[in-house]
Amino acid sequence: AGYNADHSPAPKRDMFQELQDEISASKIDQYLKHLSSVPHLAGTDQDLQQAEWLRDNFNKSGLDRVVVVPYHVLLSYPNMTQPNKVYLLDDKGNANFTTSGKQTPLSQPEESSPLAAPNFNAYSGQTGEIESDGLVYVYYGQQEDYDHLESVGIDVTGMIVLARYGASFRGNIVDLAQKKGAKGVLLYSDPKDFAQQGRNEVYPDSWWMPGMAVQSGTVYLGNGDPLTPFYPAIESAYRIKESDALLPSIPVQPIGYDEAEVLLRAMNGPLAPEKWRGDLNTPYSLGPGFQYGSGWKIKMNMLTANKMVTTYNTIGMLYGEQEPDRYVLVGNHRDAWVLGALDPSSGTACMLEMARAFGKMKLDYGWRPRRSLVFCSWGAEEYGLIGSYEWVEQHAKVLSQRAVAYLNVDIAVEGNYSLWGSGAPLMNKVYLESSKKIANPNTAEVNDGRPTVFDTWVHRYPDANHPSKPRVGILGSGSDYTAFMHVLGVPSIDIRYTYQEEIGSYPLYHTLYETHHLLANIMDKGFVYHRAVTQLWTEVARNLLESVVLPMDLDWYATYLNESVAGIKNRYGAQLEANQATLTHFERAVGNFAVATRRFQDTTLARLDPNDLLAVRRINDQLMQLERHFVDPHGLPNRPEYNHIVFAPSSSDSYSSSSFSGLTDLLEAVGNETEAQRPKEWAQIQQHLSVIAFFVDAAGESLNDYL
Ligand code: GLU
Ligand code: CA
Ligand code: ZN
Ligand code: ZN
Repeated sequence: AGYNADHSPAPKRDMFQELQDEISASKIDQYLKHLSSVPHLAGTDQDLQQAEWLRDNFNKSGLDRVVVVPYHVLLSYPNMTQPNKVYLLDDKGNANFTTSGKQTPLSQPEESSPLAAPNFNAYSGQTGEIESDGLVYVYYGQQEDYDHLESVGIDVTGMIVLARYGASFRGNIVDLAQKKGAKGVLLYSDPKDFAQQGRNEVYPDSWWMPGMAVQSGTVYLGNGDPLTPFYPAIESAYRIKESDALLPSIPVQPIGYDEAEVLLRAMNGPLAPEKWRGDLNTPYSLGPGFQYGSGWKIKMNMLTANKMVTTYNTIGMLYGEQEPDRYVLVGNHRDAWVLGALDPSSGTACMLEMARAFGKMKLDYGWRPRRSLVFCSWGAEEYGLIGSYEWVEQHAKVLSQRAVAYLNVDIAVEGNYSLWGSGAPLMNKVYLESSKKIANPNTAEVNDGRPTVFDTWVHRYPDANHPSKPRVGILGSGSDYTAFMHVLGVPSIDIRYTYQEEIGSYPLYHTLYETHHLLANIMDKGFVYHRAVTQLWTEVARNLLESVVLPMDLDWYATYLNESVAGIKNRYGAQLEANQATLTHFERAVGNFAVATRRFQDTTLARLDPNDLLAVRRINDQLMQLERHFVDPHGLPNRPEYNHIVFAPSSSDSYSSSSFSGLTDLLEAVGNETEAQRPKEWAQIQQHLSVIAFFVDAAGESLNDYL
């Protein structure tokens, strides 16, 4: 397809090559420089200015329709002039030590940032002065960590806990601390994880974290605007009471590791286990008391408060030529904790460049893709995926009927070690094949015989069971694909370049020091990794937009389900058998699904006449809808907010995911207890097993023309 602006037949162009050649590293650099020049926290004036700047750029690029969509939602802010503080009080109530509450500018980009918010965790639960005579070091704040504390006789009820970042989503850390009875939470990043070259080799000379840096971030466990669960926060919306929202009730504050060190050194009590000790100059005592005598206390002075504000999505569309009502969506959030050069502006810069490249094909050649391309710049992701959730809630039916795929880039470049991918099995083929067409930005690796992005990807992260392909993880939560994948069942992927170190995040994640300097001079000189991510994102989108038959990977879905059920049998088979629950139907359904997908490929697809437009459309509808057949409108057991029976964010760490977690969560919760001991729970397991078998079967059957 393709016409010149004057409607004369276009010369045959290779749109893959045209788009790839158009993508410019220096343009991405320029976009990024602009985006990260001011703090752009959700709900602030700067956030709206950037939403409008994106609109103007999308319009300049030649997109057909660009809108800025507002939602009135509940966010959370610190007091801009009076930072939250943490005090160590002596036995007379005098402050022996006080945290600073702010990060000090260390290089040019952050120096001119009077608008930077003081350190805070969004939706921290309580304002005012919170005091405790006990402080407990809880390591990463996981269930097993509290089990250890209990085993040495430490109960955190009424205590303030000091937890390390790094093992799970901070919302889960706070949720568990609250359930354990903690009165408040202090979060810090230990140099063992975040300053691995020592405390002198840090930003602005390296990507490691300085001693007063803090990771901001939300501690809300839900998704979307807290006051409008399940429905869009539009003008007519009913809002629940703040006290009924799923928000934490205890105060939470991030502190620097220099500050955590002072607190840890003041603590007494049993020594932490060897592996709990980090790299601070302290023996790591668990608490809860203080070694300078009784009567010492820890106090938090909190001013973080919730507030109704407006957040904005900027949505830009390039209309499709033949199938305008079929959408390939690409998205990235726009809001940042501070300057956000990596999170999320690296991705925003790539998206702007992709829009410019696609738009240029339209402006210069009169070209349009077969299907419609939708660019989504989300607001308030950092607070709990709010912009994307509200939009998906608003357009749920249309998206469910018409969305082909959602392709997310949040942080485009968090390292230059390898591509890192996660996504729906149906996207496997288009993702991998696209990566084989993108030049490796690392010349040393090219000289080593790895000319493409794929080559390094499979070299660094081979799939254990299928070593000729890279490992593509399944999607948990933590960025804007969640509503698409886990609520609607729109097959989604997440793309980024990552680092080698085994740490929970790159060291400067969510700090003041996510700057243009960090990317341009330390992590991606020349912006070549950014260009590679943009090229890959563009090519995956182009393929999904242009392929006559949608490139859904049916085989890989069947393989994936087969390996998942085998894994479940391995781990829980005996336990299930012993309690009159059986995997038989589930296994048979997975087998049926493999037969149905095989037959579809060998007969329906093999016999398809691509000129038979009705047949093409019919088959594409079956392919597009396949993922939707795994969506249960009633939600997972005890988790009505998640609907996909195969994938869901993990209940103990929403960043991660496991397959069939509706089932595995129930099995983990019932533990070793038998059907006789826990009849209700086992009945629920049996019911969910039958639901799974039913949905897997129905998915396979949907590939038939007849009922
Ligand atoms: N990406 C944000 C974070 O990691 C928000 C994640 C979420 O709310 O699920 O803090
Ligand atoms: Ca809502
Ligand atoms: Zn992000
Ligand atoms: Zn973030």
